Amino acid sequence: MKQQRIVLSGIRATGRLHFGNFIGAVQKFVSYQGGDNLGMYFIADWHTLTTEKNPNAIRNNILEVAKDYLAAGLDPNQSIIYAQSSVPELMELSWYLASEQAHKQLVMIPTLKDLLKKTDGAETGPNFAMISYPVLMAADILGPQAALVPVGEDQVPNVELARDLARKFNNRFPGIFTVPEMVQDMVRIPGLDGEKMGKSDAANAVGISDSLEEIRRKYATRGVTDEKRVAATDPGDPYNRCRSVYPVHEAISSDEVAHRTIAQRCVAGAIGCRECKGILADRLAEIIGPFQERRHTLECQNDYVRDVLHEGGKRARVMVAETVAKVREAVGIELF
Ligand code: ATP
Ligand code: MN
Repeated sequence: MKQQRIVLSGIRATGRLHFGNFIGAVQKFVSYQGGDNLGMYFIADWHTLTTEKNPNAIRNNILEVAKDYLAAGLDPNQSIIYAQSSVPELMELSWYLASEQAHKQLVMIPTLKDLLKKTDGAETGPNFAMISYPVLMAADILGPQAALVPVGEDQVPNVELARDLARKFNNRFPGIFTVPEMVQDMVRIPGLDGEKMGKSDAANAVGISDSLEEIRRKYATRGVTDEKRVAATDPGDPYNRCRSVYPVHEAISSDEVAHRTIAQRCVAGAIGCRECKGILADRLAEIIGPFQERRHTLECQNDYVRDVLHEGGKRARVMVAETVAKVREAVGIELF
């Protein structure tokens, strides 16, 4: 049998998914499913602990994200769907990796650097797990020997770190890890305020389970556009100044003509922000329609979803255990 290419990615259980997660990540997961690819898609519950302190929220959100995966089209017969914590060997691997990871390089990762700068001088800053999360993330990726990691643009430095660690180990122990590739078409979907849309920032996110009315209302009331534009007939600058609407038009329209038409009408002052937001809401609702239908039927299928995670966890664990046994032996650790 031909060796399958492992395509792997994960999502934190920090809340319901939004359009950034859907367009930047989950849609890609689905598009890579099948053929010679073996998808491995997990829910990063350990990574969730770095910021979420409510145990019930974590318990609940793991199932919610799993349902979102399934409703989006991830198929347990084609992909391995699992919770990170079902594979305890990942923790062990992250220790071997951490032992090769310079602290200095780690804290140069932009998100961590910003976080540390913000809390500089404070009694307590970010927790230790937060500082070391990119190393655990490298274990998530390298443990199953992933060849391709579809993620949003915000994750590039983290995947780079995993690639670096893989190369470092391969120099010492040839062929021990697959060096993972990134996808070419990464995106960053802005939230309503123009910053990265994020689950942890409820006010800026537009959820993929929101109704058309909610999507419309959120953009209408909070979507930040070109602030220099006062009247609908003023010429706008969609490319540089529209913060939350035009970039999403661009990311979701598969044919270039559609978003270029919007941009040209904005530049010409032929379409106002309110109308443009309405068109965007309609398009988003259309994209998400089939998802929402399937999601609805999964709502009360917790037993089925638990089963999927249980089976996926077992399969992922076997794969990671194989890698970890090799690494353990290579670095000189013997199980007595
Ligand atoms: P949190 O705010 O809790 O970190 P998040 O929305 O950033 O949540 P993650 O679980 O950290 O979501 O990331 C899951 C996947 O979604 C990653 O591949 C990430 O790159 C992608 N992603 C998250 N936000 C965006 C966004 N705004 N645009 C594109 N991709 C995104
Ligand atoms: Mn995130």
